[in-house]
Amino acid sequence: MTLANAYVATSASGPLVPGTIERREVGPNDVLIDIAWAGICHSDIHTVRGDWGAVPYPITVGHEIAGFVAAVGSEVTRHKVGDRVGVGCIVDSCRECEHCLAGNEQYCRKGMTGTYNAIDRDGTVTQGGYSTNVVVDERYVLRVPESIPFEKAAPLLCAGITTYSPLRHWNAGPGKKVAVVGLGGLGHMAVKFAHALGAEVTVLSQSLKKREDGLAMGADHYHATSDPDTFAALAGRFDLIVNTVSAGIDISAYLGLVAVDGALVNVGAPSEPLPVNVFSLLLARRSFAGSAIGGISETQEMLDFCAEHGIAPEVEVISADRVNEAWERVLASDVRYRFVIDAATIGA
Ligand SMILES: [Zn+2]
Ligand SMILES: [Zn+2]
Repeated sequence: MTLANAYVATSASGPLVPGTIERREVGPNDVLIDIAWAGICHSDIHTVRGDWGAVPYPITVGHEIAGFVAAVGSEVTRHKVGDRVGVGCIVDSCRECEHCLAGNEQYCRKGMTGTYNAIDRDGTVTQGGYSTNVVVDERYVLRVPESIPFEKAAPLLCAGITTYSPLRHWNAGPGKKVAVVGLGGLGHMAVKFAHALGAEVTVLSQSLKKREDGLAMGADHYHATSDPDTFAALAGRFDLIVNTVSAGIDISAYLGLVAVDGALVNVGAPSEPLPVNVFSLLLARRSFAGSAIGGISETQEMLDFCAEHGIAPEVEVISADRVNEAWERVLASDVRYRFVIDAATIGA
């Protein structure tokens, strides 16, 4: 066991504080990663605040990790010391069920092991990326192509794959009309991916405040959902709507914007149930669906797609001592578009 410097939550309501966490010794199949950059995801805040269930404090969160391989176990073949690598939301799964075998480890029958706040094989609770290093089985470690600016790689490991996976699954591409609800950390990646995949892209945002940004990211159209005319003007228009908003919205109203046989896919995760008027589904054979992150091979595909198309998130880099302020700004939707912690400042 070794110690890593980290930012640690000791309660649901208190600030994150500097501290240390334990990392296991590097096993035969493990990779030790010196973390360079750690993205801040809204899920980190939900978890620490107890919104999604009980949490064993102290806990260190963070599942958008980019860093350099510092050591490898004797059996490791996929990565070598010095490589640029990433770790997302998954650090283990059963590796045997049909979903693991199909590359959908996020839907593992026995439950995937999350990067933080999950029970690891050795019985310890996994600890996340707001820290100086991490030990992960090589099967769950991604290669980060050289052409992706490294500080921008981190948010791809959650925000990136969470939006890329449903766009691919529901065939966003040429001739398809795709709408993205919400232009935040997830939404801005959805816009970039959908545009690069060749779809016609519309942003549906509360206001027109971020319109210039959205168009610059590749959106063809931008509408304010606070304007009731939007819902009349766009009725039945979209083959696919990706909803990135984790607050409650009027799902039935948004379903009215979906074309016959189209789908509205939630990637945002509201803590309360969302009521659906079934008429908004059956009168146009629409689907209301959900999607969670993506598998390991698809995450690698997404990183390679970013390199090929020059895609990267918009980030604001912060030092670790500003993490509590950054969380407040995430809660206030005051970030364009993802915070990334410079891990060199953790414990410095
Ligand atoms: Zn996340
Ligand atoms: Zn499995």
